[in-house]
Amino acid sequence: MHSEVPTFSPPLVAQSDLQGPLPKEVDVLIVGGGLLGSALAYYLSVRGTEVLLVERGELNREALGTNAGSFHFQIALHQLTASSSPEEEKRLYREVKLQLDAARLWGELEKELDADLGVHTTGGLMVAETEEELKVLRDKQRIEEMAGLETHVMTGSEMTNFAPYLSSELAGIAYCPQEGHANPLVVAPTYIQRAHERGAQIRTHCGVDAIEVLDNQNPYRFEVKTSRGSVKCRRIVDAAGAWTGDIAHMVGLRLPMGSEGLHVNVTEPAEYFLKPMVQHIGKRLTLKQTSNNTFIIGGGWPARKEIYPKRYSNFWDSAAGNIAIAVRVLPMLRNVKLVRTWAGIWSYTKDFAPLVGESALVPGFHVAMAPTGFTLGPMIANLLAESMTSESKAELIPAAYLPDRGM
Ligand SMILES: Cc1cc2nc3c(=O)[nH]c(=O)nc-3n(C[C@H](O)[C@H](O)[C@H](O)COP(=O)(O)OP(=O)(O)OC[C@H]3O[C@@H](n4cnc5c(N)ncnc54)[C@H](O)[C@@H]3O)c2cc1C
Repeated sequence: MHSEVPTFSPPLVAQSDLQGPLPKEVDVLIVGGGLLGSALAYYLSVRGTEVLLVERGELNREALGTNAGSFHFQIALHQLTASSSPEEEKRLYREVKLQLDAARLWGELEKELDADLGVHTTGGLMVAETEEELKVLRDKQRIEEMAGLETHVMTGSEMTNFAPYLSSELAGIAYCPQEGHANPLVVAPTYIQRAHERGAQIRTHCGVDAIEVLDNQNPYRFEVKTSRGSVKCRRIVDAAGAWTGDIAHMVGLRLPMGSEGLHVNVTEPAEYFLKPMVQHIGKRLTLKQTSNNTFIIGGGWPARKEIYPKRYSNFWDSAAGNIAIAVRVLPMLRNVKLVRTWAGIWSYTKDFAPLVGESALVPGFHVAMAPTGFTLGPMIANLLAESMTSESKAELIPAAYLPDRGM
């Protein structure tokens, strides 16, 4: 059996604290108890800021609690457009730089939080089935090298020797030694616990229904109406994942983002052999073997949309399409049974960049949202905490990430 089973169960904040009364006023109110909100509560508390995090349901139940836990440091399919203009190359270069910052933070996070978060640096493979896709691998490798990320493109016998379990029909692969995964079910609860230890107040079953912007004379800039009463605060951080746009709309902002359901498949356990994560540069596929020896197979296949609080459900077409590609790339999966599927909801921006920082249109209103938010979330939260507590905040967050862009 594979021996990398995480041993750490995160300590949980007591229900009596989560259900405690709301304070009347607070400096920073964070909306959303996913990864972005939890990590931000920690990074602000570490810097001595007074924080209240409110979550309308249970902590860690939406995008974070349903995600696949992979670190995406190589340029991936969802970041590509039909264009290969110099502007596009610059955008991809910027994104790889961001992914490298995220890689550095993940490398130190278990030490920082003093916990086993199931972080494993297994390396990651990106496969190409056609010559055209192989060209994309070579083009992206050039950008990654310029940005400082180590990736190697392999074909022919070099490829089959390196990854003998992959189909020999593949045109080529790219390998990134830094990629890997962590356990999403442990990361956010650990951030929450560490934030709570430093004084952050966390409240669940506390949904934000409306936000009133108060006049400039008022020491508190916002009055937030929740399902458990009103709270005045100086600053708000909207970390509501797929609902970030709804919260921003409450103060009159329209964010350049959307959301959609994603489908994931899980197989029965099989003999352990697949250390690296596998992705596809031209088709929707991410695939890895877990610490329980099961395979998690996803990559962005759609799930059926539902209105909250109903949960997103699965399409069989997504399961069939996803598995067909997985078996083509990793033929031994033909003998492994699919046992379960799940669906979750994720948010994306139209220009692929994260939404982070303070709105110039509604001062005091901040946003923390990132597509591939598991990979980028801790780093984005740390960056925002730094900017919210530093004198030179304007220089810290690039203009391309600010929430008012495109308005
Ligand atoms: C199936 C799937 C697989 C994925 N796999 C990966 C992966 O392998 N790697 C990767 O990097 N990314 C992956 N992602 C994306 C990643 O999970 C998300 O980008 C990330 O978890 C977003 O975290 P979040 O904190 O912004 O959002 P969420 O975790 O959704 O948290 C937002 C919270 O806000 C709360 N909220 C909403 N409205 C209100 C309100 N009015 N009042 C109070 N609270 C509110 C919600 O209840 C929710 O708990 C995946 C996503 C899905 C769905």
